[in-house]
Amino acid sequence: MKKIAILGSTGSIGTQTLEIVRDNPDLDVVGLAAGTNIDLFEKQVREFRPKLVSLQSEEACKDLKERLADMQVEIVCGMDGLIQIAEMEESDVLVTAIVGMIGIRPTIAAINQHKDIALANKETLVTAGHIIMPLAEKMGVSILPVDSEHSAIFQSMQGENRERVSKLLITASGGPFRGKSRAELENVRLEDALHHPNWSMGNKITIDSATLVNKGLEVMEAKWLFDVDLENIQVVVHPQSIIHSMVEYVDGGIMAQLGTPDMKLPIQYALFYPDRRPMRGKRVDFYALGSITFEKPDMETFTGLKLAMRAAGEGGSVPTVFNAANERAVSLFLNRKIRFLQIAEIIEMCMDAHKRIASPDVEEILASEQETYEFIQTKF
Ligand code: NDP
Repeated sequence: MKKIAILGSTGSIGTQTLEIVRDNPDLDVVGLAAGTNIDLFEKQVREFRPKLVSLQSEEACKDLKERLADMQVEIVCGMDGLIQIAEMEESDVLVTAIVGMIGIRPTIAAINQHKDIALANKETLVTAGHIIMPLAEKMGVSILPVDSEHSAIFQSMQGENRERVSKLLITASGGPFRGKSRAELENVRLEDALHHPNWSMGNKITIDSATLVNKGLEVMEAKWLFDVDLENIQVVVHPQSIIHSMVEYVDGGIMAQLGTPDMKLPIQYALFYPDRRPMRGKRVDFYALGSITFEKPDMETFTGLKLAMRAAGEGGSVPTVFNAANERAVSLFLNRKIRFLQIAEIIEMCMDAHKRIASPDVEEILASEQETYEFIQTKF
């Protein structure tokens, strides 16, 4: 029996992780944490019967306690709650499926308790990769990628000598606005940006896919996960999302992982690695597919990707500012307070204003995040 705890169980990755648990009786959920969706969380707790659960606020926890008065479950809350779940003695693997830098402390706490990490929460590596990766190595902990591109790279490295990798090729669908000019993007609506051509995901990451910021975050995530220099990571637009990413080796050979766009595969692969379990769902039909295509990303139109490459190159606290500025700008866009193109403008403004810290600790990362939020608040 493999025991798992999930941070962000009510979200897109969290609910799909629980679908996998339903299909695999040898997975046992021992801890669950979510933010504010109490109705769904109550259902999850009743169905999966974890020992320890956590919600974001005291108020939500109080409400949950009343609702679950008939059950034996310990309820904790806030950041302390997330850390308690991350550190649970009973768990083998922590699935980090919360959004944002709030994932940093619980991930560090879990690694310190020798828990393997099934990592979806890319912001943790983007902002604190220089802390997380050496710590995981020191503690002998595996960081198993859940992001589909990183899972594809990880799968394409099995049985290979990692020192023989020459390049990572991260594929991108191009999002709903692929091929559009800046003039055409001037007045795109929120509804259009939320309409991803291939993947069904949470709102924040769907907007990040439309701006190509998500691809930039993935480049930074890949750099830390696979210890590959930035100049050896290339983004390739592949609108059909069948190849989920590729690895080129020193002899020019390229290994790729293909499949239908379904996040359950990388989640399940991370949970059972190195085994592969049967999975229901559609299969790639090459006769129906006919052809697949590739393009260079248009970084002059989608400046979010260009800024991400700049942030990755500058390193230190700059990726934190990039990420925090994007988080706040996306939230303003989702609330219809700014236009689509302003997302990248806000990121650039924050990066230009920031004084870089070369190797920030967790406090400095969180302070840079806060400073970025406050800077944006003075303007919008
Ligand atoms: P969602 O927005 O769908 O879900 C986020 C989850 O985090 C929810 O369960 C939410 O709870 C919870 N949460 C938010 N804030 C807090 C908090 N302060 N305390 C506790 N829980 C909190 O996000 P996704 O599932 O789309 O994404 C999760 C992570 O995975 C992100 O880092 C994303 O970049 C990454 N990712 C996602 C992919 C996808 O297909 N969705 C693909 C690859 C990576 P509640 O809803 O109850 O408020």
